[in-house]
Amino acid sequence: MQKIQNFVNGEYRDPIKGDYIENIEPGTGKVFAQVPNSTQEDLDLAVEASKEAFPVWSRMAVDKRSRILHKLADLIDYNLDDLALMESRDNGKPLWLAKAVDIPRASANFRFYASAIVNFSSEAQVSEGFMVNYTRRSPVGIVGCISPWNLPLYLFSWKIAPALAMGNCVIAKPSELTPMTAFLLGKLSKDAGMPNGVLNILHGEGKSIGQAIVEHEVTKAISFTGGTATGRIVGATASQQFKKVSLELGGKNPNIIFADCDLDEAVKTSVKSSFTNQGEICLCGSRILVEDSIYDEFKARFLKECEKIVVGDPMNAKSIMGALVSEDHLNKVDSYVLLAKEEGGKVLHGGNRIAREGFYYEPTVIEGLDKNCRTNQEEIFGPVVTLNKFKNEEEAIDIANSTRYGLSCTIWTSDLKRAHRVSHAVQSGIIWVNCWLVRDLRTPFGGMKDSGIGREGGNEALRFFSEPQNVCIKL
Ligand code: NAD
Repeated sequence: MQKIQNFVNGEYRDPIKGDYIENIEPGTGKVFAQVPNSTQEDLDLAVEASKEAFPVWSRMAVDKRSRILHKLADLIDYNLDDLALMESRDNGKPLWLAKAVDIPRASANFRFYASAIVNFSSEAQVSEGFMVNYTRRSPVGIVGCISPWNLPLYLFSWKIAPALAMGNCVIAKPSELTPMTAFLLGKLSKDAGMPNGVLNILHGEGKSIGQAIVEHEVTKAISFTGGTATGRIVGATASQQFKKVSLELGGKNPNIIFADCDLDEAVKTSVKSSFTNQGEICLCGSRILVEDSIYDEFKARFLKECEKIVVGDPMNAKSIMGALVSEDHLNKVDSYVLLAKEEGGKVLHGGNRIAREGFYYEPTVIEGLDKNCRTNQEEIFGPVVTLNKFKNEEEAIDIANSTRYGLSCTIWTSDLKRAHRVSHAVQSGIIWVNCWLVRDLRTPFGGMKDSGIGREGGNEALRFFSEPQNVCIKL
């Protein structure tokens, strides 16, 4: 069994106190690796390494930094098969999905920010004959990046790539449930020529090492992706020290199907937006809202597609869904299905654990629930969607906005004006019209309401990881 290590100052190291947690492979339910349960002592080493590295990295010519990040992207591509295998075993997602999405997107993140940084310019304002102002943007310093388990390397790299590109040193913590690809990234960063101490990767539990990274006075910015409840703690802790903080949190996203849509496309994509990655994507459309005139037809066609979903071994190319990430998560998902029944919901499809080793659950569709019930309000983060009827545009918007979340929304319609109107009325940071999960990395990414604060993506992330300083010269 593999014992993984922290990556500090360019070297793999055992945790100083020698404490480990077990990493269970969701596809089999068996122990897969030992993960360091890092402590303050490990963090202190990472802090020392980052402090030494910061002058070197932050002053390195931008095009040289950029080349190192491009090289890292290339190395991720060269190691696609190994990384995808680890991602799949760690998380339970189908191997084909890790190969097609997670790992290519991780290299795309590094490549994007390697290019973005050489094109990033600061602003200047000239008041003719009176003064010139320009904004200097310097790296913040040492930053903390904390990521969740659902898209492990994809989300880890989405944070650390802009932080590194901007010239910061990073102390990063992946989820303790899915540490393997972040572990492998350490060596790749060294092979890419990244100086020691620039990227430090600590493993362990959120409440100990995660919290310690957020609390440490040296981390001047915290970029966090995870659950809303954790985000509240992280935000409160970071703001005590006036740190910059970016929070990408949970969602309960509406998928709105108007009667005038292309129903073939809407059905096909709704199956994906419901169950891709076992429904464990913060952007999954877990509340499907259907205009009443097409409700029965949509339901029949959607359920027919659900019949075709094969749930099985993540290593099997035929598996459309793999295993849920952990036994705890499986229990949580199952408890929501029981709750939905208590709340008066009717299970139209699925609703059961799958009896085999590992943590498997059927794709589940429920109807007949009130918009305000807990099943329709709380994030389940699994393969469970609800079908809800609406009469008109006004009611669709009302239902869409009825939760505390505001991460993403999908709208299916052929009416251009309606597409704009509804997009503007729905309180979501990301709106997809007649599509889902399509991303241009230059666009701002993030949520409204309890789905987070701040935006990642494009120059938003480079601005977040920099400290603006206005210089005013009187003419
Ligand atoms: P989580 O909040 O339990 O954990 C996220 C990370 O935070 C983990 O690395 C964890 O160890 C760490 N952590 C836990 N407590 C901490 C603390 N007190 N201080 C610092 N770090 C701490 O979330 P999860 O279960 O890993 O991920 C699922 C959640 O993430 C879902 O709610 C999902 O919607 C959300 N998510 C959001 C986005 C987005 O972009 N908005 C993307 C993916 C996932």
